[in-house]
Amino acid sequence: MKSIITRFAPSPTGELHIGSARTALFAYLAARSTGGKFFLRIEDTDRTRYVEGSDQRLIEAMNWLNLIPDNKGEIVFQSKRLEMYKKFALELVEKGQAYICVCSKEKLDADRAEMEKAGVPPRYAGHCREARINIDDVKEGEYVVRLKMPKTGKIVVHDIVRGDIEFDLSLLDDQVLLKSDGFPTYHLASVVDDHEMGINSVLRAEEWLSSTPKHIILYQAFGWELPQFGHFSMILAPDRSKLSKRHGATSVEQFRSEGYLPEALINFVALLGWNPKTDREIFSLAELEQEFKIENLNKAPAIFDIQKLNSINTHYITELVRNQKSEVRSQIKNILKDISDDELDLIGRGGFSTLKGAADYILELRKEPDYPATMLVFKRSEKKSTLLALRAVADKFESEEEWSTFNVQKALEYVVIENSLTNGDVFWPVRVALSGAEKSPSPVELAVALGKDESLKRVKKAISKLN
Ligand code: GLU
Repeated sequence: MKSIITRFAPSPTGELHIGSARTALFAYLAARSTGGKFFLRIEDTDRTRYVEGSDQRLIEAMNWLNLIPDNKGEIVFQSKRLEMYKKFALELVEKGQAYICVCSKEKLDADRAEMEKAGVPPRYAGHCREARINIDDVKEGEYVVRLKMPKTGKIVVHDIVRGDIEFDLSLLDDQVLLKSDGFPTYHLASVVDDHEMGINSVLRAEEWLSSTPKHIILYQAFGWELPQFGHFSMILAPDRSKLSKRHGATSVEQFRSEGYLPEALINFVALLGWNPKTDREIFSLAELEQEFKIENLNKAPAIFDIQKLNSINTHYITELVRNQKSEVRSQIKNILKDISDDELDLIGRGGFSTLKGAADYILELRKEPDYPATMLVFKRSEKKSTLLALRAVADKFESEEEWSTFNVQKALEYVVIENSLTNGDVFWPVRVALSGAEKSPSPVELAVALGKDESLKRVKKAISKLN
């Protein structure tokens, strides 16, 4: 496999969508797995769709995901290269591969309306195609440059993900390359930059497939070597509709603020359309760089499954807390400032699917629990032994000098043995006393997270509830 030199080319029209993050990841992995290069290019020539600051937020989201491009520090912004695109557009005019068009908007609209009425697909009527208008005879702002597309024939796109796809050239319009405001269109800027940046593999989302024949014609018009093309399949919601806001979070920033870890998002989106050919589900970015193969991308759309993301996120939360990674600490501190180390440990054991959910749990846990007294009695126990257990636990807690997982565990075990009780007689009511819930982390973990004073207070409260 040759070294893939590719790019991710987002338009700054909003936050980084999860689908675009996957495009970025696949392009990144294609490059890294073949010893190639991965570049970032901001396609900001459509000023009407520009969203203030979104270019910086896209870069920030990429950094957060750890998808660091090789041109970090020299990211390409198309709006800074306008002169170059214009030069190339006029070069094509010079070569007879493109032409100056001075048709007014009114005229184009009228042509369009007529074609629609006649039931033919609307396209440029071709008034200026053979007119050979000279650039020196037109005023700035009063012309566009159009590509002279072949009128007949077929073109085959050899797509490395999807196979060969044939397009009928007679259906393709004479594309505008340079707009009247002097800005390039997407087609021109994209092809010029891909050539200038030495891109040998154009990898992008499926929605750009229909632009590819136009791009191929453009490459040919310039006389440039063609890159290879690959288009990634779409991501759909579980109901097979387009993934949109009504399905929940869609941008990387939203997932971040809900408490998903970058490792989890990367791992999850990698599996949306890439088949690792094993049952294994957990991959770090470094492992993906080793394992990824472009041949193992699926042509069929991928289905977004939030449960899968949650379970992967649970895995990373647990793993990272266990390894005491500072990253997860600082992330949860963004959500819950005064989290203690013991509370953090509880999160690492609690099977939480998001950090936000975990933070909410901690906040809830800090509140005095409210529950019916009957919940304190385990189903195979009775009130008398429950009271006995809680009183003995209160004594043990009171005299405990060093509040640790080991000591709390020992204290509860001693209460079982010393009073000839069962585990259920003791662990159950303590857990309910501490959490107020039938399902929760273990009483030991809860007690450590709550601290000695609060745990003792709750056990005493349980005793008075039962009395
Ligand atoms: N600017 C396009 C986008 O927002 C890039 C398409 C391409 O990669 O050529 O997706």
